[in-house]
Amino acid sequence: MEGSCNCKSVQFSSSYEIRAIVNCHCNLCRKMNGSAFSSYVVVAEEGFILKSGVLKAVQVSENASKSFCDNCGTPIYNQNPKLAGLKILYLGSIDNAPNLKPAINIYCESQLQWVNQIATLPNFEQGVV
Ligand SMILES: [Zn+2]
Ligand SMILES: [Zn+2]
Repeated sequence: MEGSCNCKSVQFSSSYEIRAIVNCHCNLCRKMNGSAFSSYVVVAEEGFILKSGVLKAVQVSENASKSFCDNCGTPIYNQNPKLAGLKILYLGSIDNAPNLKPAINIYCESQLQWVNQIATLPNFEQGVV
């Protein structure tokens, strides 16, 4: 699995098998990413190789940290000591993301209600504004 940031300075690979692909609906992810929910690909830390670029990390909660491209801000992964040995990669940072399909939704207790109806909204091939 190969990944990169939006400015392409960060390039990484992950060679170990994928542990899980999830949509997280928790309030922390919503706030720190500015999005309705966040999709993640969970992998073993040992298989992750940063091939180029510089990552900056910020502490986003007592336990969790978020690492992003120091140049363009693209989030690359989260880490949490409660999930020791794992990197929680941002699905959008992975270059073949269209092939990766979340299998579960987590923290649905804080899920925005409209998310369930997203497929029923009018759809356009490109932007309309
Ligand atoms: Zn970048
Ligand atoms: Zn979350």
